[in-house]
Amino acid sequence: MPSAEIITIGTELLLGETVDTNTRYIARALRDEGVDLYRTSTIGDNPERIAEIIREGLSRAEIIITTGGLGPTIDDPTREAVALALGVETEFRPDLWEQILERFKRYGRTPTENNKRQAFIPQGATPVENSVGTAPAFICERTKGVIISLPGVPREMEYLMEHKVLPYLRERYQLTGVIKARVLHTSGAGESQIDERIGDLEQLQNPTVGLAAHAGQVDVRITVKAETETEADALISKIEDQIRQRLRAWIYGADDDTLEGVALDTLTACGWTLTVVEANLGGRLIRQLAGTPGPFVGGEVLTSAPAPEELLSISQAACEAKSADVALAVVLIPGETQQTLHIALITPEEDRQVTRTYGGPPLMAPRWAVNLSLDLIRKL
Ligand code: ATP
Repeated sequence: MPSAEIITIGTELLLGETVDTNTRYIARALRDEGVDLYRTSTIGDNPERIAEIIREGLSRAEIIITTGGLGPTIDDPTREAVALALGVETEFRPDLWEQILERFKRYGRTPTENNKRQAFIPQGATPVENSVGTAPAFICERTKGVIISLPGVPREMEYLMEHKVLPYLRERYQLTGVIKARVLHTSGAGESQIDERIGDLEQLQNPTVGLAAHAGQVDVRITVKAETETEADALISKIEDQIRQRLRAWIYGADDDTLEGVALDTLTACGWTLTVVEANLGGRLIRQLAGTPGPFVGGEVLTSAPAPEELLSISQAACEAKSADVALAVVLIPGETQQTLHIALITPEEDRQVTRTYGGPPLMAPRWAVNLSLDLIRKL
């Protein structure tokens, strides 16, 4: 399986003026083709520095894809940088110049002398016709690897990836493999608790298992490389079984499942409706529930936080006011070093009160509180 590196070029990316969406697009496209991505870099418009990164990349990976820096101005450094990296000059390509003139004619525009720059590409490079823009792309083949330089404009880059680059890579590297991923969602456990149970699986090479924590929820991502879709599914399912055995009830769903969806499904299965009273969560719990199909009958955001000992009677009153079977009252109290969460839950079968503290980033506290509350409901 070949490996790749992505280099996005443009000082505007380094200044934070443009968000680098090209890397994400190319990374996913390569993943779907079964190409291993070793590294992604972003670099400003400086030919020497770009050349250095390209050379480094070529020492590790077979495929280097660059985006940006192919425009007509002197600041557009990619043609020169690739030539520098390969130790060649750029050369004027009359065929490319013809293409550019043709395109300008079609757009009813006159090219400037600057546009001629775009007809210079590194010696030995193969031009890739850009039928959706004016900046020509090119491919430089070497025995050990290949450098593919694409325009920065996302629409042009995406078009060329799909129609030119991926077919080229499939052919050159006989790409037949697939990479598939499955995400198991957990709630009610911290990242270290999960890590304790499946740490050994996180050392595996294929499939790989990785964790991503999001305030009160932890995702376990299984990624596999295989020759066929069926083989990939079989490998995923084997490791998924092991993870499920070890994490059991912490797992609430997979892939597109959401915690609020699963919590409301639990209530539907019991035949119960739900109302919520919340304070200091910015309306977040109610918003998430209201945006999800299920038996949520509405709720109330309190403008000031009630005392914790009032929460059960507030829940009771909420149940009556909304004719709901279940009520959840959730209050987050900010503190100097940590935030305290008080929850009261009333169902036809039990009344429950829970207090928890949170020492993570204060901005994440409402999300954590919402996840903890939904976790209580899904476990009813
Ligand atoms: P052109 O000359 O056709 O503009 P180019 O290859 O010179 O193409 P750049 O000038 O580097 O491309 O970028 C053109 C525009 O494309 C930028 O202004 C920016 O909006 C967008 N762009 C560039 N790189 C990226 C990136 N990595 N992710 C998202 N957008 C990008």
